[in-house]
Amino acid sequence: MKRMFPIKAEILAVEDLQVRKESTIPGGGDRFFARSHPISVHMASESGDGNCSAWAARDPSGVLSPYKFNRRSVQSGDVSLKITHCGVCYADVIWTRNVHNDSIYPVVPGHEIAGVVTEVGSDVKGFKVGDHIGVGTYVNSCRNCENCNSSLENHCPESVFTYNRIDTDGTVTKGGYSTHIVVHERYCFKIPDGYPLAKAAPLLCAGITVYTPMVRHNMNQPGKSLGVIGLGGLGHMAVKFGKAFGLKVTVFSTSESKRDEAINLLGADNFVISSNTQQMESLKNSLHFIVDTAAGDHPFDAYLSLLKVGGVMALVGFPSEIKLHPTSLNLGSRTLSGSITGGTKDIQEMVNFCAANKIYPEIEIIKIDYINEALARLVKRDVKYRFVIDIENSFK
Ligand SMILES: [Zn+2]
Ligand SMILES: [Zn+2]
Repeated sequence: MKRMFPIKAEILAVEDLQVRKESTIPGGGDRFFARSHPISVHMASESGDGNCSAWAARDPSGVLSPYKFNRRSVQSGDVSLKITHCGVCYADVIWTRNVHNDSIYPVVPGHEIAGVVTEVGSDVKGFKVGDHIGVGTYVNSCRNCENCNSSLENHCPESVFTYNRIDTDGTVTKGGYSTHIVVHERYCFKIPDGYPLAKAAPLLCAGITVYTPMVRHNMNQPGKSLGVIGLGGLGHMAVKFGKAFGLKVTVFSTSESKRDEAINLLGADNFVISSNTQQMESLKNSLHFIVDTAAGDHPFDAYLSLLKVGGVMALVGFPSEIKLHPTSLNLGSRTLSGSITGGTKDIQEMVNFCAANKIYPEIEIIKIDYINEALARLVKRDVKYRFVIDIENSFK
């Protein structure tokens, strides 16, 4: 696909550097954050009464309020989706509050989208009206690079995030806190019959974010052992996948209050308070795998020392930096690996796996008028384990 705005893209790239220098974004997160655009970017098509009702943040206060805008009409390869549910991800806090200095207001967040197909373009092969489908963290890519050709669209240099990015038609993408969305069918995923749409929503970001590295690093080997750091939206899905893969799962948390649910609700085999050095010491060289979902800064050496020889720790969060002693990797030939969301093939595989194995995220359903409280609670990690907005009943 040809980039339609080469000149603008170049100007933005220069400003990128400035934004990135001033922000606290770690260099390693460049694919996730590098497409910084100045806040002043404004597209004429955004204003006025539109065909789509939404809630948007207007400025870095991050406060959301009702907003209307226009979605494009359905093109030949597009699917139009009536959104019934949208999960609330920590990314929604980041971009409504301009944490990375790249928010393009008004920001309509939401990239855990589930709903029902209402219209398909003439070339659409995979979906029909009435199908239940999901849309995740990206809605476009070049469709012609090495990564796209390997179903790794999440790593395409031209991939377009579901909101707060400039799409190939020049419009700013707007996410799932809205009544409908129009997306090329390549970035839509079939939700099998009988899988509740409310529970499907968190699979599209939280689910795939932990599923991808777990499968890539062969963590689906029954009998092996997995550590999960952090027990939020991502962590609780890692525990569920771990149990479905037949692993012995140990949860590492800072909060004793999560012990009961980790074991009795989520099915973890073991629960460890990470500040308890005695407990940590007793687990040295005992784990085959670790999935690190912690968003905040934390030591790495202590966790890496828990891995057996050849063990793998997969990082899916964005701490401000990673500091570790080389011996933590070299002794034991351990691997520290990163990952972000997943390609289209993996997303569909993960959704199908959840349906086949009856894996359901734990959710708290809210209406859109509770979203400001919900985001505030998310910042305090006061959610078990994912807020999902009942979009269908919020805009009546
Ligand atoms: Zn997300
Ligand atoms: Zn590509």
